[in-house]
Amino acid sequence: MALIFYRAEGQTPNIIPQNKDGLTVVTTWVAYEKTVQADSNNRMVPVQQYVTPLLSDIQYATNKNFTKTVLYTQPLLLVRLPVARALRKVQQQLAPYGLSILFYDAYRPYAVTKKMWEIVPDERYAANPAKGSGHNRGIAVDITLADLKTGKPVAMPTPFDNFTEKAHHNYQQSDSAVLANRLLLKNTMEQNGFTALSTEWWHYQYKKSSTAFAILDLPFYLFK
Ligand SMILES: [Zn+2]
Repeated sequence: MALIFYRAEGQTPNIIPQNKDGLTVVTTWVAYEKTVQADSNNRMVPVQQYVTPLLSDIQYATNKNFTKTVLYTQPLLLVRLPVARALRKVQQQLAPYGLSILFYDAYRPYAVTKKMWEIVPDERYAANPAKGSGHNRGIAVDITLADLKTGKPVAMPTPFDNFTEKAHHNYQQSDSAVLANRLLLKNTMEQNGFTALSTEWWHYQYKKSSTAFAILDLPFYLFK
């Protein structure tokens, strides 16, 4: 089904055509703005306007990531408006523990998902562009917990983008403090409307039914 995103009285509906995989991909700023006019929840907002302090370690902007390639230029942490509001609640809930969210990734342009797939065409490690990813829709984040004062990440079972069973939520062979950190992150995110992914302790998606938000293929600099 093509996504009908704007239909004012007496106007012909504007329809974003589907790509060869049947995905609705927003590729122009004009089309994106129309989705926002139709529903303000579609607005992409900088996380830094909602989460204070904003701690981040954007490894895709360096070559220190699983593709060993610089994937982002001019990176900006962006999510849809309701996702940003939920993240603000998470951050407020973590403060009494002396903790903060630390972001590895948020919105990822669809072109980057395609590039990742060219480098690593394996669904265990990268999202298949034929399906798209919650990151392309502006509703997924890759995060950990960090000390609110020092900004230093807390101990977790693995580093970010470790694709072994040690990164699974059901992996129990870490010490109890590490497991408690992973559980605190999961519980706090779930209480605020996010869904965990069983194989990646760092990945959270806002609400399970995600296709309400179109895939975006817009570069970061357009949002600056
Ligand atoms: Zn992710």
